[in-house]
Amino acid sequence: MIKKVSSHINQNELLLFEASSPGKRGYQLPDLDVPAVDPEKVLGDLNVREEIEDFPEVSEVEAIRHFTRLSTWNYAIDLGLYPLGSCTMKYNPRVNELVARTEGLAWAHPYQPESLSQGCMEVVAVLEHALAEITGMDSVTLQPAAGAHGEFTGILMMRALLESRGNPRKKILVPDSAHGTNPATAMMVGYTVQNVKSNERGMVDVEALAGYITEDVAGMMITNPNTVGVFEENIRKICGMLHEKGALVYMDGANMNALVGVTRPGDFGIDVMHLNLHKTFSTPHGGGGPGSGAVAVVKEMAPFLPGPRLKRVGDAWSWNYDLPQSIGRVRSFYGNFGVLVRALAYIMAHGGNGLRQATLDALMNANYIRALLEPYYEIAYKANSMHECVFSDDRQAKKGVRTGDIAKRLIDYGFHPYTVSFPLIVRGALMIEPTETESKRELDLFVDAMISIAHEVEENPELVTKAPHSTRIKRVDETRAARNPILRWKPKSTASEAAD
Ligand SMILES: *Cc1c(COP(=O)(O)O)cnc(C)c1O
Repeated sequence: MIKKVSSHINQNELLLFEASSPGKRGYQLPDLDVPAVDPEKVLGDLNVREEIEDFPEVSEVEAIRHFTRLSTWNYAIDLGLYPLGSCTMKYNPRVNELVARTEGLAWAHPYQPESLSQGCMEVVAVLEHALAEITGMDSVTLQPAAGAHGEFTGILMMRALLESRGNPRKKILVPDSAHGTNPATAMMVGYTVQNVKSNERGMVDVEALAGYITEDVAGMMITNPNTVGVFEENIRKICGMLHEKGALVYMDGANMNALVGVTRPGDFGIDVMHLNLHKTFSTPHGGGGPGSGAVAVVKEMAPFLPGPRLKRVGDAWSWNYDLPQSIGRVRSFYGNFGVLVRALAYIMAHGGNGLRQATLDALMNANYIRALLEPYYEIAYKANSMHECVFSDDRQAKKGVRTGDIAKRLIDYGFHPYTVSFPLIVRGALMIEPTETESKRELDLFVDAMISIAHEVEENPELVTKAPHSTRIKRVDETRAARNPILRWKPKSTASEAAD
């Protein structure tokens, strides 16, 4: 008879707290050859941590194995395709990390005197210049810490400019396909939000828009290409219509990876925009940060940029704090500097032609997927796709299978799911963005998986609605997990309480 052996690796990982055994240590020191002192007395209360109740005590190898095993439970860009749309996970070339670890950059302190910070200031200056060139705008600030923060900074400047003209106005127009941060930003800066409907091609309805542009309108926030992956063909006209009424245009640049090197917002009429360096310029943004929401503006808005600003004094860089019209600081120091270094490394490693090629490759990859999947999934809008394609689950819903089910089944095929149920204006959305770095082989594997799932939906829908089948944890109750998250480990005695 074969004895059943439990396979402990990858399956039944204990919490580190549960693996703990009193007195175990991750290090070993030789006996003292000097008189012993009480560290608490010598260091003083201020420097001695309070005891942490039930702090796990394990050996070095136990700690390392624990975290190494946990890391294998995760899906990562280093394992395979990560087809999330909207919030691109662009591949972060390893050379960026090498550059960011350069001693003089990695160990620079923000309080270092200017004379010892010239290299870092040069990084800021060169990156600002490169981003101005890429966007076709006049000036750039690198202070904001993320896209939403960039929006806030940009709309504050919009308000400041309108105020300087005599009237900040009351409303911001936002298309119904917009990312939620857009209306939230407008509200935070004290504006009311007017929703603008999209037409059946997924673009802003220009005729409807005309009716909304009143003397009250401060400006419009527009994403281009928008969140359904469609280029706003009438963007010049839209900008013209707003400018004619003294309003301004903010562009949410989160989808700039479809435009870089091909067209420039400054050339089609945008006044102020943000870039998500952690999306378009390859800096990592796992786990919620850090990011960078660089903001680019036209000349007329430059006096309102957050300070301090770089200026050239003789042949050195200096920070200029004398900015009477500036909206003020939006962040401590000068932005998330490590992210800026990576973005600049990415831009310089590619060069102008390389950036353009990356854009074209991203468009080609998205359209390749679209062409192969269109026979099986309903494309949301017939207009040309840019860097991502959005399907709906209309055909699969007839069999009771929804976008979330298809996403879970993809996990069984070894892929990270696409973006599920966003944008909200597409019912049951499947938003797929491959990015430019994926090979034809990887794209074909993904497409094969999606087609195979489409067949399963026809033949055995339960297989899909009950997925995933191959993971450690089967389908979880997501609503309950979101409403009642258990984020803190509790000792065994109260563990059942936590599970409730
Ligand atoms: C990601 C994203 C944002 C917000 O950017 P963060 O850097 O996450 O704050 C805004 N708009 C769009 C379209 C986005 O994709």
